[in-house]
Parts: sequence; C-alpha cells; structure tokens
Amino acid sequence: MSQNQWSVMMKGDEAYAGAKSYFYLKEVIDEIFGFPYFIPTHQGRAAENILATCTITPGDYIPSNMHFDTTDANIRAKGGNPVNCIIEKAYQPNIFHPFKGNMDLLKLQDFIEKVGAEKVPFGMITITNNAGGGQPVSLENLRGVSKIYKKFGIPFFIDGCRFAENAYFIKLRELGYSDKTILEICQEIFALADGTIVSAKKDGLANIGGFLAVRDPILFEKVNNELILREGFTTYGGLAGRDLSVIATGLREVIQEDYLAYRLGQINYLADRVQELGIPIITPPGAHALYINAGLLLPHIPPIEFPGQALAVELYLEGGIRTVEIGSFVFAHPHPDTGEIVHPPFELVRLAIPRRVYTQSHLDYVAEMLAQVIQKRKQIPSYKIVSAPKLLRHFTGKLEPILSSRN
Ligand SMILES: *Cc1c(COP(=O)(O)O)cnc(C)c1O
Repeated sequence: MSQNQWSVMMKGDEAYAGAKSYFYLKEVIDEIFGFPYFIPTHQGRAAENILATCTITPGDYIPSNMHFDTTDANIRAKGGNPVNCIIEKAYQPNIFHPFKGNMDLLKLQDFIEKVGAEKVPFGMITITNNAGGGQPVSLENLRGVSKIYKKFGIPFFIDGCRFAENAYFIKLRELGYSDKTILEICQEIFALADGTIVSAKKDGLANIGGFLAVRDPILFEKVNNELILREGFTTYGGLAGRDLSVIATGLREVIQEDYLAYRLGQINYLADRVQELGIPIITPPGAHALYINAGLLLPHIPPIEFPGQALAVELYLEGGIRTVEIGSFVFAHPHPDTGEIVHPPFELVRLAIPRRVYTQSHLDYVAEMLAQVIQKRKQIPSYKIVSAPKLLRHFTGKLEPILSSRN
C-alpha cells in the first residue's frame, strides 16, 4: 500500500454508524462507479455470496464471459448454473485480439432465449477476465452486453475486480478513447450496468475488503439485510473503519495512469523474457498476470493428471516462486447430464504479479528459474488427487506425484 493509504489508516473513523471513513468511501464509489447504493464486504467473494443469496433460485442460470472461481462456486453453492459465453478467440492463445475478454453476443442472446429470461436472475461480465488470462473487455462489447440484458429485463452486474486495468486497455486499444481519462472511461463502463462486485484486494490496492454496489433500492434493501445478518452493519460490512479509508484512497490511486503504465510495463517485460525462452503463454498478456500454457509446455501430462499443478510445484521447488494452477484442478467438473468430466480449454499456470512489490531484477529471477525448470521438463511428474472437497477444491485439496515409468 502507498504511504497515503497507511496514513489514512491511522485516521480511520471506527464509529459504528455515521463514520467518516464510510462516507469517504461512498464519495469515491459515487465518483468512479456512479451507483447510488453500496455495501462494504470483507472480500469480493462475500459480495458474491450476498448477491447470490438474494437472487438465485436453484436451477437458475448466470451467464458471463467467464466466471472467476469464487463467483462460479458461489453461484453453484446456491443451486445456480454459471455459464461462460466468451468469444471463440479467447480460446486461441497465439492469436492477437485486443479484447479477448469480450462476450460472444450471439452466444449470450441464444443462451437466454434457450433457457428463458425468467431463469436468469442476473447476468454478468468479468473485467478483466481473470480466469481466462486477465484479458480485457471493450466498451463496444460492454454496450452490446448491456443492451441484450436490458432487452430481456435481466439486471446486469459487472465483476469489476480489475476495472482500472480494463479501463487502461480501453484507452490504449479502443478507437475513440485515447484522449479520455481513466476516470471517464470507468464512469462510461459502469453507467451501462445495474451493479458491480469488486474485490478491494485487486484494483482497490488494499490488503483486505470489497464491495457490492447497486442501482435498485429494493435489491439494496435485500442485500443490506443479508450483510447485517452475516457480515456487519452497512457502514463497515465486517471491516474496520480504517479499511474503508484505505480502499477509498486505493481506488483514487489505481486510476492514475502512471501507476497503470508501470503495472502493464512490468507484465510486458516478464512476458518478453518468458517468450524468449520459447515458453508458450496467453498472448497478448493481461495487466495483472502472465499465464503460461502448461498443457502445451508439458504435453506428456494429460489434463486429468494436472500439468498446471505439475509446473506450479516445480517452480516452487526450483526457485521458491509461488504461482497458481488455473486449469483442471480448478475448473474440471462432471457434466450435469452425462456425469463425464469436462475439462477447461487450457491448463494454465498464473504468475500474478503483486503490485508495488517487485523490481525488474525480481522478474529476471523468475525468468531464470523458468529457464531451469524447462530444461528438465520431460522429467516433471504428473499429479493425482489424494483428497479434495467438492467446491473450490484447489484451495485445500491435496495432490501427490504419480511416479510412473514414464517419468
Ligand atoms: C479475486 C477475484 C474475486 C474474488 O475476490 P476475493 O476478494 O478474493 O474474495 C472475484 N472475481 C475476480 C475476477 C477476482 O479476480
């Protein structure tokens, strides 16, 4: 966090109601997102849970470009079905497309027509698309998505965890936005939606927190009651007052262009180094992370034996570099009708770069360790699950290497 964030923390107002910290956050959310109501939550997933609890009936469908793992799980936990309607180009890792997070509008429209709008309590889109390479969504696409949801009378929610990074990509890549400020682009994005879920641990630049903001006063009453039942009163939502001040300050800092330019610059630097080694990544890279295509890098390991996990473990053993698999261990699930295991399109390893932490030489070290790991890639073993819970198994599940003759 910045010195300004640490200093507002010292001045946090811990009053139960009417706290200055709450009103400071409200002012900033009004300015950037423009929603008249919001509740603070302790993380993004708490906001997801509250929204899902207040809206989903078992058997409902929630379309998005691609749901993040906690969003996906919170929908399933309420008996809903998360559905991904992202463009086909998102599944072509080597093809350049400026907005690989875009929704396939035809797919979305056909899907809603097929299941019926009454089965869709709300629709979503994730900006940027964390589960699919941190790829951005264009404003043109957001307008199209908003129009479709509106046509069917479906409330439109943006998973806005990385709203500022997405806005920066719009400024860099979308026609007509190069002269706009990040703030103006954010305002234009959220004017299209009925609400948003944000994890303040991402573009809030905070160590903890999140929020759910909405336009509809009736929905606000519901989510607010749920908040009070489980998290805390409206003015703090399970956080301390000082956390709200930190988030408000972070939200103002994250829309500074020099911050965003530095952030994207770091990822691009690492992406270049990694590509020089011949390691396949999702291109173009996103703003917060590099995604290595472990399925392609370790072709001797089938998806069912978790090539992403295998690479993540090896990187940790080799260099103490902690990454995360975003592949079959996270997303493979039995088909609701046939029971057959459905694997995600990619077996990825995400190298998320903590903001404001690393220097260029840290990134050089990551590239060096990767170079060492790929030298012995043919010997990297497969993995099998020893134990795992049903939902969100990648957080606590245990795996062990399969030491077969192949290795
Ligand atoms: C991190 C994240 C979440 C969940 O937020 P937490 O604060 O970790 O609970 C939801 N959606 C996206 C896109 C995220 O990146």
